[in-house]
Amino acid sequence: MRRYLDISNVNYSGKKFDVLIIGAGIAGLYAALNLDAKLSCCLITKESIDISSSWLAQGGIAAAISEGDLPQYHFDDTIAAGAGLVNEEAVRILVEEGPEDIMRLKSWEVPFDLDDEGELMITREGGHRRRRIVHAHGDGTGRETIKALARLVAEKENITFLPNTFLFDLVTKGQKVKGILIGDKNKKEFIRSNNVILCTGGSGQIYLHTTNPGIATGDGLGAALRAGAKLQDMEFVQFHPTGLYIENNKGRSFLISEAVRGEGGILRNIRGEAFMENKHELKDLAPRDVVARCILAEMNNTKSKFVYLDITKKSKEYLSKRFPTIYGECLNQGYDMSKDYIPVCPVQHYMMGGIKTDLQGRTNIIGLFACGEVANTGVHGANRLASNSILECLVYSRRIAQYLNSDCRDLIDEYRIDKSKKEYEKDHFDVNKEKIILKELMTKNAGVVRNRANMEKALIKLEKMKDKLINLTISSKERAELYNMCFVAMEILKSAIKRKKSIGAHYRED
Ligand SMILES: Cc1cc2nc3c(=O)[nH]c(=O)nc-3n(C[C@H](O)[C@H](O)[C@H](O)COP(=O)(O)OP(=O)(O)OC[C@H]3O[C@@H](n4cnc5c(N)ncnc54)[C@H](O)[C@@H]3O)c2cc1C
Repeated sequence: MRRYLDISNVNYSGKKFDVLIIGAGIAGLYAALNLDAKLSCCLITKESIDISSSWLAQGGIAAAISEGDLPQYHFDDTIAAGAGLVNEEAVRILVEEGPEDIMRLKSWEVPFDLDDEGELMITREGGHRRRRIVHAHGDGTGRETIKALARLVAEKENITFLPNTFLFDLVTKGQKVKGILIGDKNKKEFIRSNNVILCTGGSGQIYLHTTNPGIATGDGLGAALRAGAKLQDMEFVQFHPTGLYIENNKGRSFLISEAVRGEGGILRNIRGEAFMENKHELKDLAPRDVVARCILAEMNNTKSKFVYLDITKKSKEYLSKRFPTIYGECLNQGYDMSKDYIPVCPVQHYMMGGIKTDLQGRTNIIGLFACGEVANTGVHGANRLASNSILECLVYSRRIAQYLNSDCRDLIDEYRIDKSKKEYEKDHFDVNKEKIILKELMTKNAGVVRNRANMEKALIKLEKMKDKLINLTISSKERAELYNMCFVAMEILKSAIKRKKSIGAHYRED
C-alpha cells in the first residue's frame, strides 16, 4: 500500500485549526457542538449535509429512559446481540451515559415525538426486551436530529463548516497526526492540526445492495489504514433483514425500519405463511442476523427473491402518521402498507468493524480519534443491536470532545510532506466498471452466508485489482473511492477467512 494517494501538487495554504472533524453525520456534528468554544474547529463533509447515513436513520435512538427500563437491561440486550464479543466496559458507558445525551438533544430542540402528556413516545425494535427507542417525526429521526444540530453548528463562531470537501489522506509524522489533505483532481490542500476526529461513517457501497448513501465508500477506513491505524472486527457486517425489494434496483436500497416489526409487523413467505414463530424466542423481533438468515432460507425454499412483511392489521391513518417516510415510499412503489404485504429482502446495512479506539475515542495514532460507524469501540461485538449506533455516535463523540477540551495538543510545527519520487501510471481506467466488479464480488462471497473457498477466490481477484491500483495515479475523488473500497473489502475478506466459526453477523456455512 502506498502512504499517500496523491502528493504531486500540494498547496501549503497555512490553514490551521485546533481540531479537524471529518464527516457531518450525527457523530461529527455532535463532536463539534461539544467542543469548547475556545477551540477552533473545521468540520468537513464530502457532499451536502443531507447526504449521510445519519440523515436516513428512521427507527430512532435507543436509551433506557422509559418507566420499568434500566441501563442494566439495555446492557444485557446489547451483550446478547453482540454474541459475547463486545467490550463490556464500552457498553456500560454507552447505556449509562446515553440517556443524558438524549435529554441534551431534547433540550437542543430535536423534535422527538411526544405523547398526549408531553412525555417522550418510546417504541421497541429487534433484540430489545423493553420499549426504549425514541424517534422524531415518526420515521424521520436522523433527518430531524441533523437539522437541529446543523442549526446550532451554524451559530458557533469557532466552527468553520466546509461542505463538498473530500478527504484524501491523513497527514502523519511518525505516529503523530499533523493534519489532512483535501482537494480535487488538480490540487491538494494541506490543512494543519494536531487533532483529527474521523467521523466518516460506513462503507456499504462495497456491496451491490445497501441502505447506505453513495458517500459510504470507506474513505475514513482507507485513510486510517494508510496512516497505520489499526482496524478491528472487520468481518462483522450487518445485513438488515428488510430492505424494500424492487426488481432490478440499481440504486440505494430503501429500508423498511425494524420499528415496523416493533409495531406488530409479521414476516411471511410468498405463500403467506408466517415463519418466525418457532425460530427464536423473540420471533419477528429476533436479532438482525437471525432474521436475515431465516429470510434467506425462506427465499431459497420458495425459490423467491423476497419474502413479505405484513402490517395490514394497522390502519392507514396510523401507519401514515407513525411511518410517514416508509408509507410514502411504499406507496410510490405501488404498495399501500395498510392493505398490501410489502416485499422485502436482506441488504447490507452497517459495519460493526472499524478503526480500533479506546474509551476516549483515541486510536493508536497520536492525535487521531474516531467515532460513529467508522470506529470500533467494541460496543457492537459481532452484531449491533438496533438503534444503538446513533447512541454510540452521541456518547463517544461527546467523550472525544470532552477529552480534547481538557487535553488539546497544541499546534504547531510547520511539517511538510516528503515528496514521492515514484511516477505513477496515467492509464485509462474504468472506475465505474471496477466498482461494480468489486461490489459483485463482495455481494456473492462476503454476504449473509459465507464459505472459505469463495472468500479466498474473491480475495485473489481483489489482490489483482489492488496491484493495478497501487501503480496508478489516484488524483480524482472517484479513483480514491475505489482505492479505499478495494482495501476495505480486502480487510473484510481477510478477517472473515480467519474467523472459521460462525458468530453473530458472520455466518460460515462451511
Ligand atoms: C437507512 C438507514 C437507517 C438507519 N436507521 C438507524 C436508526 O434508526 N437508528 C440507529 O441508531 N442507526 C440507524 N442507522 C445507522 C446509523 O444511521 C449510522 O450508523 C450512523 O448515523 C452513522 O453516523 P456517522 O456520523 O458515523 O456517519 P454518517 O452519518 O454516515 O456520516 C458520514 C459523514 O462523513 C462524510 N465523509 C465520508 N467520507 C468522506 C470523505 N472522504 N471526505 C469528507 N467527508 C467524508 C460524509 O459526507 C458524511 O458527512 C441507519 C442507517 C441507514 C443507512
